[in-house]
Amino acid sequence: MAADDLVVGGMAPLTTIDYPGRLAAVLFCQGCPWRCPYCHNPHLLKRQAEHPVAWGDIRAFLRKRRGFLDAVVVSGGEPLLQAAVVDAVAGIKAMGFSVALHTGGSHPARLRHLLPHLDWVGFDAKTAFDAYAGVTGIAGNGEKASRSLAEVQAAGVAYEVRTTVDERLVSRDDLLRLADDLAGRGVRTWALQECRESKAPGRFPGTVLLDDGPFLERLAGRFDGFTVRRA
Ligand code: SF4
Repeated sequence: MAADDLVVGGMAPLTTIDYPGRLAAVLFCQGCPWRCPYCHNPHLLKRQAEHPVAWGDIRAFLRKRRGFLDAVVVSGGEPLLQAAVVDAVAGIKAMGFSVALHTGGSHPARLRHLLPHLDWVGFDAKTAFDAYAGVTGIAGNGEKASRSLAEVQAAGVAYEVRTTVDERLVSRDDLLRLADDLAGRGVRTWALQECRESKAPGRFPGTVLLDDGPFLERLAGRFDGFTVRRA
């Protein structure tokens, strides 16, 4: 699949928070195989046939931003859903930008092809890998996510593991088991993110678990760096 087959649902021209330490534009790829109730981009979940943002327009925008932007963040939706993401990311790199990927790791084989072009990965670990169906609504995808994290680590690319917390979906036991798993794999930093209220009607609001200092200390003790991000 060529880069211009990539269906991009939207673009943010400038962000300072989506790729640590870099000035970046963000591409929001259309489509995601998962259905997390707290999803902030429900309008991106279904892949459309049409291209809301044409690849040619993205290339033209990036050409004009050379020297002003450091990087491009490829986000979603789930970017790995589309085979065209590999050529698209290679094309962005060829323009001289660093590239970051935000992913849940739904397609480990595709991720392996993409990793040589990436400078940073924000990896969303949804919950303990044997409990993914409780968050994503789809059975069997925790194993794929686990393999994807292993691919990221094997590639030697810089990365961050982060987990969005809603305690009605992710239990304390899930978080403790995930913490053990991550630490056992050699993950040194982990960020918990407060779940903001979804834009989709009737879905979940945030969490109170992140106020439990002693519990957070139990998690933090497994890592060199541990962050809680409030919504
Ligand atoms: S993986 Fe991300 S984009 Fe997909 S449903 Fe979950 S939160 Fe939304």
